[in-house]
Amino acid sequence: MAISLRPENEKMLLDLVRSQRLPHTIIIEGDSKEERDSAAMLLAAAAVCTAEDKPCLNCNQCKKILEGLHPDMLIPQPSKKLKSGIISLQELREDFLSQASIKPNEADCKIYLFTDADRLLREDSQNTLLKIIEEPPQNILFLFTAEKAKALLPTVRSRAHIITLSRTYVPDEQSEEIAAEITDGVVHLYEYDLLVTLSSLGKKEEIEAALTAFCEKLRLALSFQSGIKTDDGCAQKLVRRLDRARIIALTEITLAAIAKLKTNVNLQLLLTWLCTQYRRITWQK
Ligand SMILES: [Zn+2]
Repeated sequence: MAISLRPENEKMLLDLVRSQRLPHTIIIEGDSKEERDSAAMLLAAAAVCTAEDKPCLNCNQCKKILEGLHPDMLIPQPSKKLKSGIISLQELREDFLSQASIKPNEADCKIYLFTDADRLLREDSQNTLLKIIEEPPQNILFLFTAEKAKALLPTVRSRAHIITLSRTYVPDEQSEEIAAEITDGVVHLYEYDLLVTLSSLGKKEEIEAALTAFCEKLRLALSFQSGIKTDDGCAQKLVRRLDRARIIALTEITLAAIAKLKTNVNLQLLLTWLCTQYRRITWQK
């Protein structure tokens, strides 16, 4: 499969790959199946890649992962005999888990990918897996994808590193309006107006929605520059006034602000900081 990830999700995953050793159990949650599956493939490739900068998505190992042909990646499938999407405990044990302690064939590690684990794994299966996750054999990576990690047993969750992918952008009227005002504020350098606009949003969720909407405009602007036409007025304005490097810098700063929103941050300080960053980026020569 081809990996298709929104930039903020790709960045989060690559930061994880580059910052430390990959945790041995990872749950990837998010509302888009395409993003979840892509995220799992990216991490699986990173685990077996032989290039310096992992995952290169180009070496033999990466290619085999993307093609679903890697001998060291096991992807348990729903049992044919059972109803909708569940694997039986017997099949899970005999066909898959029995191989957990056998050395990998050609990579340095073995990967188990449980796609849509919230549907695939009943409680008995999760409990059986738990024993392996608690004391995993060496060089094994367990990847679970689920719409919501909460659908898995708390005992499984507590032993896993949970990655929450960003929500799919669904435009709403208020966020679209604010995104248009942010666009004007940024391209015309109305820093004060920009601050007033952002400060008028009371709740964290509203600010997050508006900044996400603005990120979407920036994304459209970047693809517009690469030749993909858009009718979006904001994206057109951004492209007329700003070069590519500035649009990328604006995207990064906006994503950083969204990440800070998830911490216990003082909103007014954050918005003031963000407006200063927007000005710095648009003014710099
Ligand atoms: Zn590679």
